[in-house]
Amino acid sequence: MHQPPIPHVASADPEIAELIEGEARRQFEKIRLIPSENYVSVAVLEAAGTVLTNKYSEGYADRRYYEGQQFIDPIEKLAVARAQAVFGVDHANVQPYSGSPANLAVYLAFLQPGETVMGMALPMGGHLTHGWPVSATGKWFRSVQYGVRADTGRVDLDEVRELALRERPKVIFCGGTAIPRTIDFPAFAEIAAEAGAVLVADIAHIAGLIAGGTHPSPVGHAAVITTTTHKTLRGPRGAMIMSTAEHAKAVDKAVFPGLQGGPHNHTTAGIAVALHEAAQPEFRSYAHQVVANAKALAAALLERGYSLVSGGTDNHLILIDLSPQGIAGKPAAKALDRAGLEVNYNTVPFDPRKPFDPSGIRIGTPSITTRGLTQEHMPRIAAWMDEAIIAAVKDDEPSIDRVAGEIRELLTGFPMAGWA
Ligand SMILES: *Cc1c(COP(=O)(O)O)cnc(C)c1O
Repeated sequence: MHQPPIPHVASADPEIAELIEGEARRQFEKIRLIPSENYVSVAVLEAAGTVLTNKYSEGYADRRYYEGQQFIDPIEKLAVARAQAVFGVDHANVQPYSGSPANLAVYLAFLQPGETVMGMALPMGGHLTHGWPVSATGKWFRSVQYGVRADTGRVDLDEVRELALRERPKVIFCGGTAIPRTIDFPAFAEIAAEAGAVLVADIAHIAGLIAGGTHPSPVGHAAVITTTTHKTLRGPRGAMIMSTAEHAKAVDKAVFPGLQGGPHNHTTAGIAVALHEAAQPEFRSYAHQVVANAKALAAALLERGYSLVSGGTDNHLILIDLSPQGIAGKPAAKALDRAGLEVNYNTVPFDPRKPFDPSGIRIGTPSITTRGLTQEHMPRIAAWMDEAIIAAVKDDEPSIDRVAGEIRELLTGFPMAGWA
């Protein structure tokens, strides 16, 4: 049953209640390997499901356009103070609705339409909002894109420098969605300084690792830091923009009134709770276990002959090129899902296939680590993945069903926040 229970949804809207229960069960029964997902605590779920959703609070604490902020103001102040403490930043804005609007607010703060932004190309591991052509950020701004080296699968900082000095972007984004290696913030900062650009570190994927001390922090290197709150940071869906004091005003003005209306106060409370959790010693252990699990899973996959972009991982994420297995990413991801292993198909750098039917899959360990799985389980997971992929190539549905059953069996021993 969903936790906290939802008896009122069940009586008012049984159709939706049944679907919510179904999703909760699905999350309980699967090895969830999508690296941008997690399981939030019941405390975060409760905070995000409160009457705070009833309140309008356009503006910022002590400067609102609506009355009745006696409780909302302290909630938002707590969220901001906790973000400042966890990440060690001068300024934090906790109002962005999600990662994409947070990044759009950065454009509004630092660029005029048509001016130049530089980011990592989407098929190389960047995010849509770093100037990819189909995104508003690529349509309304002039975008130049860097990638990774074909031989190493890692960001080519010489290319980044050359491109930055030639194109003179006003903003440079570092970070992305499919980067299995440590991001060199000091090197990016040096390049941005040389080029006269504002460096923005988008830490959406690795915020929890930074909070937990297993990835270097961009603070002191990037003047602006954007992040989602719902990936490794293990909060509700939302985002934050953090910055030096110098840019605080520009950031706040861009979020409101530049881009958004009223903040989602129930989400703000959930973010505050998640940041409180992230400040506890157990969260440091969590972040360390996420990375230890990813390294163990990568080693087990390498042992089974899998081709990993960049040859492994430093963080929570593994990008697998399935070409040697003779299967594309999409059919593999679908077979893995039937086998109880939830992944997403993904382009790999220099992918000869199309983005909607790419060569790779992307996996990660944030969710399974929250469930309590450790290094000792990783060889088993690699074996199950291998069995399911081989079964998919051979159209062997019974083997896929068998793996799904074995996974359900294992996971009964690992409780899930949100399911009782
Ligand atoms: C997930 C992600 C985003 C976007 O977040 P949404 O909440 O999905 O809009 C932005 N940048 C990076 C690097 C991400 O990984």
